[in-house]
Amino acid sequence: MLSRSILRSSFRALPRILPRPLPRTPFPRVFQQPTPLNTFRFASGRGPRPPRIKHIRYNPEEVERARPLISEEQIRNGFRHPGTTLIAVVLFSGGVYFYVSNLETVPVSGRRRFNCYSEERVKEEGKMMYRMIMQQDKDAILPAWDPRTRMVERVMTKLIPASGLEHVDWEVHVIQSDEANAFVIPGGKVFVYSGILPIAKNDDGLAAILGHEISHNLAQHAAENMSRYVLLEPVRWVFIFLDYAGYTGGIGRFIGDILMDLGMMRPASRRQESEADYIGLLMMAKSCYDPNEAVKVWERMEKFQRAAGNSIPQWLSTHPSDSTRIDAMTKWLPSAEEARSESECGVTLGYSKEFQAATGGPDIWSSLFR
Ligand SMILES: [Zn+2]
Repeated sequence: MLSRSILRSSFRALPRILPRPLPRTPFPRVFQQPTPLNTFRFASGRGPRPPRIKHIRYNPEEVERARPLISEEQIRNGFRHPGTTLIAVVLFSGGVYFYVSNLETVPVSGRRRFNCYSEERVKEEGKMMYRMIMQQDKDAILPAWDPRTRMVERVMTKLIPASGLEHVDWEVHVIQSDEANAFVIPGGKVFVYSGILPIAKNDDGLAAILGHEISHNLAQHAAENMSRYVLLEPVRWVFIFLDYAGYTGGIGRFIGDILMDLGMMRPASRRQESEADYIGLLMMAKSCYDPNEAVKVWERMEKFQRAAGNSIPQWLSTHPSDSTRIDAMTKWLPSAEEARSESECGVTLGYSKEFQAATGGPDIWSSLFR
């Protein structure tokens, strides 16, 4: 009797000991409306049972209680952790090694700079840009017989031997446009907008413009710009992290971008422009063009820009102001004249070490721009 009553009371207690079954929830509406894909299964009634879906209801209290996955306290603790210091030291040393091992000297100007991109890689990037421009301006490209195309080809033919870039697969296109622009895409694709020809005025003026553009290629400025992004990206990440950790009030990234642009990108771009001016001036002089015309080109450019209302302060610009360029060119003229007189005009000359020495090379350029 005793054992039977114990058994009975135990059975009564069992539901309290065992986990309670979850309350039955009806199938969500989506399963009640079979789609063409699941019609057969549900119609036959033999298919696998659809999974139970727990209803999630909006609960304002829970939302208020919600906390970020990583709290500020955890971030601070992470900073203080000895392992973090070790990781930071390893990353920093790796970064310094990467930077130092990719330092190189720019030909002719002798400037030291960081460049982690190969010429081939930049050429690949250039191909994309080339296809885009050819597609965009295909109807405006002037034919080969056009005197303007012939003028550009004539000047290029004289400049290339002095650039030392004879191995490049050069291609010249003149585009009918009011825009006063010219550029050379890495890989030797030259684009000249016909609007710049009145500013160039003659072969010497055009040689000054094209010499400048070829010099951007010679000095591999495109690779340098791409490399600068590699260097600055971690700095951007630091700003994003500081924003996230609440140190910079959410505007750190924005301020960081402005500081990097005005403090690094634009000054670097202006330095490249001056460098291309310097190399280009020597290149045109070496090709027997009159370097005095380069100064005149910038004077005409200044007038053109002023008429178009395009003058902005130099510190905001990616280019030096026209007056800065004119002053610098005037200072470089004696060495350009010297290079011209020493040049055996018409004879193939590359940018050899002797050439650098003969033209004053790095010292003259750096004394003005460093
Ligand atoms: Zn330029």
